[in-house]
Amino acid sequence: MYQQAIEQLPLEQLRALQSERLQQLVSRLYADVPFYQQQFDSNGLNPKDIRGISDLHLLPFTRKPDLRDHYPYGLFAKPMEEIRRIHASSGTTGKPTVVGYTVNDLELFDDVVARSLVCAGAKPGMKLHNAYGYGLFTGGLGMHGGATKLGMAVIPVSGGMTDRQLTILQDFQPEVICCTPSYAQTLADECVKRGIDPQELAVQYAVLGAEPWTEAIRKQVEAGLQVTATNIYGLSEIIGPGVSQEDFEEKGTGSYVWEDHFFPEVVDKDTGKLLPYGEEGVLVFTTLTKEAFPLLRYWTNDICSIYYDENAKRTHIKMSAIKGRADDMLIIRGVNLFYTQVEEVIHEFDFLSANYRLIVDRVGNMDRVTVEVETLHPGHAGNNDLALHLREKIKGTIGLSMTIDLKEPGTIARSQGGKLSRIMDRRT
Ligand code: ADP
Repeated sequence: MYQQAIEQLPLEQLRALQSERLQQLVSRLYADVPFYQQQFDSNGLNPKDIRGISDLHLLPFTRKPDLRDHYPYGLFAKPMEEIRRIHASSGTTGKPTVVGYTVNDLELFDDVVARSLVCAGAKPGMKLHNAYGYGLFTGGLGMHGGATKLGMAVIPVSGGMTDRQLTILQDFQPEVICCTPSYAQTLADECVKRGIDPQELAVQYAVLGAEPWTEAIRKQVEAGLQVTATNIYGLSEIIGPGVSQEDFEEKGTGSYVWEDHFFPEVVDKDTGKLLPYGEEGVLVFTTLTKEAFPLLRYWTNDICSIYYDENAKRTHIKMSAIKGRADDMLIIRGVNLFYTQVEEVIHEFDFLSANYRLIVDRVGNMDRVTVEVETLHPGHAGNNDLALHLREKIKGTIGLSMTIDLKEPGTIARSQGGKLSRIMDRRT
């Protein structure tokens, strides 16, 4: 572990630390950010009302429109002279939000990424092939800083230019790679296409995040690159990558949320009511320690559950894989649908690859979803029995009839380096 004492801090002590940090945060915000002062006042709240982390639910949420209303710097809690870096979200769902970091924030960012890398299997002395985009997006520089702090040699490849990525994987022999899961699929596919034997590569661990993914993609990437692949989650508003990370020896049991810094809650997506551990809802974060751009109860829009895992190495809470963003949820003939649900069904079929996309049309008054999915082997795309089998399985598990369009291998658009959009919504 990178910071064993804190990663294994007994829960009672963790709560005490969170309580102390929350109280400090609330007074800072009230004093330094007019938006929060207004929020408190209009809700009849005083910072003194918050006596500990169990009072957090009394506070109002902060939402993306609040950030956009104060674009670009209106929610910064420190003057520009103390800001050392500015990033922005990728803008996947609209105008990007702008975030800032003080020296201490950058230190904290490095620490949580270093913790995450160790959790993913990395060790000092290893080389990191960093294929997250460098720039305003937090992925590239975020992973870079944490890996440097851990004592790894960073290869700052950035996203895209797949030829070059493969040459570097072959020649520089990195032991760890980080990128989006869809780009890891692209790299795995390209190795097959070019006859690159993964045995020639040194890469052992893949740290994948920035978009939702399921076991179907894990299977493809682990087999294709011969790695252990784990999930890293984060968002620029909270810090960037390294908000949570799955342990390479606890795969499939969820990702540790570094809750000494980022306190998670899961709430009902319609009512905002706090949900019990294990129930699925919207993930909400409070940044307990950040200086430049702290957030109180930030509504991420990401859907998952949180829970404690008694068999885990660390004491921190875990979160399940993100099912999707609330605003990416399709409502088809009254049924809620995330594309990861289809991905999970695809995983059950040995003859299908995890390269797929969903196309949504309106035919008359009816919404129609077509699943385009590649078969693993050439010549299977025309097999109606296979298509029927998949259609029935989807109907049985998700409750929706979908049109199945099996495709030949290599015919569906691949990620060129960043986040891949798996839904094509053609409804007006
Ligand atoms: P944008 O919201 O514009 O894409 P970011 O680049 O900050 O901005 O991306 C953060 C978002 O990416 C998260 O809110 C979440 O929806 C998604 N994300 C990040 N990591 C993961 C992950 N491991 N699994 C699923 N979704 C993720």
